[in-house]
Amino acid sequence: MAGIMNGKRGLIMGVANDRSLAWGIAKAIAEQGGEIAFSFQGEALEKRVRPLAESLGVARLFECDVTDMASIDAMFEGLKADWGTIDFLVHAIGFSDKNELRGRYVDTSLDNFLLTMNVSVFSFTAIAQRAILMMPDGGSLLTLSYYGAEKVIPHYNVMGVAKSALETSVKYLAMDLGPQNIRVNAISAGPIKTLAASGIGDFRYILKWNEYNSPLRRNVTIEDVGGAGVYLLSDLASGVTGEIHHVDAGYNVIGMKAEDAPDM
Ligand code: NAD
Repeated sequence: MAGIMNGKRGLIMGVANDRSLAWGIAKAIAEQGGEIAFSFQGEALEKRVRPLAESLGVARLFECDVTDMASIDAMFEGLKADWGTIDFLVHAIGFSDKNELRGRYVDTSLDNFLLTMNVSVFSFTAIAQRAILMMPDGGSLLTLSYYGAEKVIPHYNVMGVAKSALETSVKYLAMDLGPQNIRVNAISAGPIKTLAASGIGDFRYILKWNEYNSPLRRNVTIEDVGGAGVYLLSDLASGVTGEIHHVDAGYNVIGMKAEDAPDM
């Protein structure tokens, strides 16, 4: 099936390299005929993001650090000047000090708690506030979460608390924006080796555990996430909002270690 995103255009935030979940979603949208703009965090990442953008024919790139409201405003001003309106937005952004993504949650510092909540949670609302002004005929907003929002995952710590808050913001935003036909959803993705994930203590163990114990007995890929992203951003999901959609090889439904899983 091709062309599901024909005639739709939107902004994808959070491509850092070709392992990023946002890149998986971008590729799937481009394959389905959607028109994309990218944002990247800073000059260092631009070198990686620009060639990726060119390979998909993405002409619009905006620098944006979500801790800086002026930079968010400038990005939306640029986008508005270019396009006027958008149909979708992908927020694939998260950050926490990696020194606090190991050990115990109880040792979280206030500074890192606030930083993590700002970058990983509030930024989605800050982006939504501006994106909806460019969605006069409705639209679709998507963010990325993880199972550590629901259950305790070793080392995920403050990021788990942030993802819980992010998932709850999805539901409140869905209620607020539903009357404008703007849908708001999250994908709760299984663990995938990316730049952000490399900051999480013992991430290789998490990957192996998920591979052995998921119903599909494998880890998910950025292409798996991309497919689900297209679904949620397209009219195929026209009746879906406030949803936390698991793309995790089914891991969230299991209650105990699989019988055939090797000892770890
Ligand atoms: P990634 O490192 O490729 O992407 C993280 C992105 O966040 C980067 O592009 C980075 O530039 C951006 N970012 C961080 N701070 C920012 C700031 N202040 N301003 C603007 N951008 C900023 O890693 P990823 O795993 O693709 O992460 C994307 C999203 O997916 C995150 O929300 C992450 O928590 C979520 N997620 C990842 C996994 C996984 O296992 N990799 C699983 C579930 C959910």
